[in-house]
Amino acid sequence: HLTKTSPTSSIPEPHVVIFPLPIQGPVNCMLKLADLILSLSNSAVSVTFVVTDFIHRRLIHHSTTAARLGKNFRFETVPDGLGDGGDDDENPRGLYQLADMTNTLQGQAQAEGSRLRAVLAYGAAEPGLKKAVTCIIADGFYGCMVDVAKELGVPLVYFETISPCGLWTYLCVPNMLRTRDLPFQGENDLDAAITSVPGMEAYLRRRDLPSFCRAYDPKNPIIQLVLNQVKNFPKAQGHILNTFDELEGDYFHNLRALCPNLYNIGPLHLNLKCRLKQKSTKSISNTLWQEDRQCLEWLDAQPRKSVLFVSIGSLASMTKDQLMEIWYGLLNSKTRFLWVRRPGSIIDDEGGKEAAVPIEVVEGTKERGCVVSWAPQEEVLGHEAIGGFLTHCGWNSTLESIVGGVPMICWPFFVDQQVNSRVVTEVWKIGLDMNKDECDRVVVEEMIKELMGTTRREEFLARAGVMAKLAAQAVDVGGSSYNSLNRLIDDIVYMRF
Ligand code: UDP
Repeated sequence: HLTKTSPTSSIPEPHVVIFPLPIQGPVNCMLKLADLILSLSNSAVSVTFVVTDFIHRRLIHHSTTAARLGKNFRFETVPDGLGDGGDDDENPRGLYQLADMTNTLQGQAQAEGSRLRAVLAYGAAEPGLKKAVTCIIADGFYGCMVDVAKELGVPLVYFETISPCGLWTYLCVPNMLRTRDLPFQGENDLDAAITSVPGMEAYLRRRDLPSFCRAYDPKNPIIQLVLNQVKNFPKAQGHILNTFDELEGDYFHNLRALCPNLYNIGPLHLNLKCRLKQKSTKSISNTLWQEDRQCLEWLDAQPRKSVLFVSIGSLASMTKDQLMEIWYGLLNSKTRFLWVRRPGSIIDDEGGKEAAVPIEVVEGTKERGCVVSWAPQEEVLGHEAIGGFLTHCGWNSTLESIVGGVPMICWPFFVDQQVNSRVVTEVWKIGLDMNKDECDRVVVEEMIKELMGTTRREEFLARAGVMAKLAAQAVDVGGSSYNSLNRLIDDIVYMRF
């Protein structure tokens, strides 16, 4: 037990409701947080985990997870407003449904008498299961939760599942509008410097801003959600960030000035691994797709640091044209590769419908590559055969790469990924940036050769190795993230918010 004394009987029992965005990354991270809260508080805390019906159905191991986390853990489910639609693959929930789902869930949270509102107040709507909630941990994207928590009289801690550098650019959007860094017209002059994001002036360009800053339209539903998030950021009792102190740079004190109570507890997956290992419990994945574990055997047979891992996460898609550019870049670089092609992630060049992978690509893979529809990514990035990661720079993927000591080729798509790719390449210098707006076979080939070929490979591996070591130290006993997590658990147990 982390705490020195037990809560006195006059204090209600700690009960946390965790409320993630209904997409893979946030659900995965926040389930890991639930795991940590339960195991480190020695079951002094109860956790109710709120997911949509869709996510609950798709979480491959949800029943094992619930059983493993024990009687103090419960899933609660709510509808996402998109209907059941029979086959989940025909009624998918991806990036384009995110604004609708978020608005629906926020509407439910605000509606007196709704099931979600009862869950946020009591962990359940059914009278027999109700138990007063003492802390809400919600994704930072749910800006309305500040008002909801206030009305319910429950402290609110936001979990910011995007990167802190991405979050900081979000928080600077009003400033960028004031100084006229935003809006900018069209796709011209994307290399122009952005001067009104304090701490990032040295390297931030228009093309590095979050994707919604291009063609900035205040009526865009995502922008409205972001502006609401920005407005409410300072009003929460605290913020959990999936990062570690040693990773964060010049801009970070600005973020802290807006909300001093930050809990930097990352990299969360490594923190969990370390803590659970101490208790000799095996970690379990929170995946929405069936993982193909055979690729680990394929990796076992490859030389050390020889394989490029290619994955664009759980939401992004590439067109058939882009697929061909990546493919020929890989082929011409003569590098071994492990490529994740998630169902639905290859779309046609016109209508955005799922496209078939050309036979030449399917056949040509066999010689030097392995293709899977979903990989156990954390384990893959920790495998010694992996020498590089062609990534969309989603924040979880970026952190998993850092933990694995794997240098990156960054090909960002949306939200914080553009900013992340700039920080990976310009600040941490552990990767190369594909310049975001192009996907060209020659560029892909050159970047792979630069990252994994003889000239610069050792330099990248050395820097990535230093970062991996810092991450490991942060979660080790007495490290910054170790201490931050202890403080969070204590604050939850003693209701100090
Ligand atoms: N992931 C995985 N297997 C795959 C591809 C991705 O387990 O084949 C996981 C990955 O480990 C990460 C998450 O999916 O934890 C993707 O999150 P990220 O923030 O990187 O990107 P997003 O999917 O939100 O765009």
